[in-house]
Amino acid sequence: MMGGVEHMNTESAPESPGQSRQLLDNLLLIEDFLRYGVRSGRRIEAEDGALGFGDSSGNKGNSAEGDRQTRLDAIEARVRQCTACVLSQSRSHTVFGEGVTSPQVLVIGEGPGAEEDRQGLPFVGASGNLLDKMLAAIGLSRRTNCYIGNIVKCRPPNNREPTPTERDACIGYLRVQIEILKPRLILCVGRTAAHSLLEVNDAISRLRGRTFAFEGIPVRVTFHPSALLRDESLKRPAWEDLKQFRTLMDSLTDSPLQPSRNEE
Ligand code: SF4
Repeated sequence: MMGGVEHMNTESAPESPGQSRQLLDNLLLIEDFLRYGVRSGRRIEAEDGALGFGDSSGNKGNSAEGDRQTRLDAIEARVRQCTACVLSQSRSHTVFGEGVTSPQVLVIGEGPGAEEDRQGLPFVGASGNLLDKMLAAIGLSRRTNCYIGNIVKCRPPNNREPTPTERDACIGYLRVQIEILKPRLILCVGRTAAHSLLEVNDAISRLRGRTFAFEGIPVRVTFHPSALLRDESLKRPAWEDLKQFRTLMDSLTDSPLQPSRNEE
């Protein structure tokens, strides 16, 4: 029995054959990642290609957006019921993620804090405000072109770092999110996010300034906004990281992003 994946709740049973295929494929995908860390050959193929996997048509229309949202919703429902690690015992809310479903950039943090646990949303409160401003400075916003998530979906008590066991129990959900969202770039904020996603163990000083890859997606690393709130001297090097990230972003996109309005 894989951790964190439970049987389908009949109250939320899909209404159409297409939705059934989508939900079943989501469950197989979660099981693959939790068991093997990668997607296996098993999959439920939609006759009309509506699942989005292996879709080489480049179709990013409303139907594909809706499919992605449906699949994310199904996984979020599983996360809300998850008891795969001890963090489930002290959480108020799970924090699945927030943003657009076809993001240019996926931002990954460590885990929910107290305010996130209260609201069920990632990066709210002081560090969330700072993250939003950092992202806005390079043309990114969770409202228009960005998705924000965490390594673990439940708050570690007293804001401690999630243990390796807790990270291992939860990382499968993030892997599935990445598979669905297909971001062009990933920005890890903080050492724990980078260590968990990239399976490295270097100090953040050795991770910054380098471009890694996760499943073929370029990954850069910078400081967690809460570290910047604790130590003002980190803001300048963090800004250098963001400028480099923006340059990489522009080099990968057909048309450079326009800076978004800094929403206070
Ligand atoms: S942190 Fe992740 S694995 Fe642990 S209970 Fe929450 S959702 Fe499940």
